[in-house]
Amino acid sequence: MKYQKPKGTADIMPDQSSKWQYVEETARKLFEKYCYQEVRTPIFEKFEVFSRTSGETSDIVTKEMYDFYDKGDRHITLRPEGTAGVVRAFVENKLYGPEIQKPVKTYYMGPMFRYERPQSGRLREFHQIGVEAFGVDNPALDVEVMAMAINLLKQFGLTSLKLAVNTLGDDESRQAYRQALVDYLTPFENELSDDSKERLKKNPLRILDSKDSNDQKIVEKAPSILDYLTPQAHARFETIKELLSVLDIDYVVDSNMVRGLDYYNHTIFEIMSADDAFGGKWTTICAGGRYNKLVKELGGPETPGIGFGLGVERLLLVIENQSLPIAKKLDVYVVGIGEQTSTESLKLVQTLRNQGFVAERDYLDRKPKGQFKTASKLAAQYTLTIGESELVEKTANLKNMQTGTEKKVTLADVYQDFALLINSITEE
Ligand code: ATP
Ligand code: MG
Repeated sequence: MKYQKPKGTADIMPDQSSKWQYVEETARKLFEKYCYQEVRTPIFEKFEVFSRTSGETSDIVTKEMYDFYDKGDRHITLRPEGTAGVVRAFVENKLYGPEIQKPVKTYYMGPMFRYERPQSGRLREFHQIGVEAFGVDNPALDVEVMAMAINLLKQFGLTSLKLAVNTLGDDESRQAYRQALVDYLTPFENELSDDSKERLKKNPLRILDSKDSNDQKIVEKAPSILDYLTPQAHARFETIKELLSVLDIDYVVDSNMVRGLDYYNHTIFEIMSADDAFGGKWTTICAGGRYNKLVKELGGPETPGIGFGLGVERLLLVIENQSLPIAKKLDVYVVGIGEQTSTESLKLVQTLRNQGFVAERDYLDRKPKGQFKTASKLAAQYTLTIGESELVEKTANLKNMQTGTEKKVTLADVYQDFALLINSITEE
C-alpha cells in the first residue's frame, strides 16, 4: 500500500461513526442536564501553554509532545490534553469577570495528540471528552463532577466500574509530603529507574506514577500523603468522602495516586473499568481533579477549577460489543426504471428530503430487481417507483415495504405533501 495512515492514528469509517456520534450525543445531553456548555479551542497551542501547566517533568512534556516550529518560527504543540487550552481560553476571554455567573461550566470533545507507543487503547491521535468548571471551590462541585462522570459511564452500560479518589492537599500538605517522600526514597536512589532518579530531584511525587515495575515495588511502601495533610486539607477530603456517600457512590481511596499531570491539588480521581475488553485488568477510562492554581499559572486571577477527561477509544473498547441504537432508517427509496427517469428521481429525493424524509435513489441505472433489493437492504419503509409510462402520466407507484400495499399516486401529490400520501395508504 503506497499511502497509509500515520502510525498510532485510526480512520473512523462510516460503519463506525454512528457509534462515535452516539457517544458524543449521549455526553452532550448529559452535560446539558448539569448545565455545562461546549467550548471549542484550537487543536494547537503555543508550546508553553502545555509545558507550563502539565509540568516540565511530566511524561507528556518530556516524551509525548507533538511539537514543531511553524513557518514563523513559533514553537507550537498539537494539544496532548484538553484542560490547558480551555484554561488559556478562559483567561484570554476573561470569563473570570465578576459579572459572569460562577461556576463557569464547560465541556469539550475532540482529538488529542501524544507521541506514545501505540497499543490497544493507546494511540498517537486519540479523542477525549472532558469538562472543566471554574470559579467555585465548594467540595459539592467536586462530587458533582465525579457523579456526572460516573453517570455518563453508566449510561453507556458500563457496570464493573471503580472510582478511585485521593487528595494532593494544599501547598503546605504537599511540601511536607514531598519531604517525607524524598526521605523515604533516597536510600533506594540507585535502584530507581533513570527517569525516577531524575524525578527524585525535580518532582518526587511523579515517582508514584511511574510505570516501571521496580519503581512501583519501591513506592508500594512509601509514606501516604493522607498522613501529611493540614487540618484544612484533611477536613476537605473528609467532606468529599461524606458527599460521595450521600449520593450512594462507591469509591476506594488510593493514597498513592498522583495523576500524570502536575497541575492538580486537593481532589483527584480516576474511574476504572475491569471489562473483558481489558482482559479483566483495571484500566482507567476517565481521570480528573481539582486545579486551583492553573488559571493563575496562565495569567488569570487566582480562580479554582475542576474537571475530567475521558478517553473515547477506551470507552468504545468496552461498548464495542453492545448493541447500540442504529442510525436512522431510510424512509423512502426512489426506484427509477430507465435512464430518462433520472432527472425526476433527482427532483423526487430532493423534495422528499426537504419535506423531512430520509430518501435515497439509484444512481447506476440498475434493473428494478437490483433496486428493490437495495431498498430492502437499507430497510426502506416505502418505495416510490417511476418508469417511462409513469413519467408521461406524471404518476408513481407507492409501496409500503412492510405490508406490501401498493398504490398509484400523482407526482403532484408527492411534491405537495408526501406525509399525507403515506397516511392514505396506511388507512386503506
Ligand atoms: P495513562 O496512565 O494510561 O498513560 P494518562 O494519565 O496519560 O493515562 P490522562 O492524561 O489522564 O491519561 O488522560 C485521560 C484519559 O485519556 C485516560 O484515562 C485514557 O482513557 C485516555 N488516554 C490518555 N492517553 C491516551 C492515548 N495515548 N490513547 C488513547 N487514550 C488515551
Ligand atoms: Mg499517559
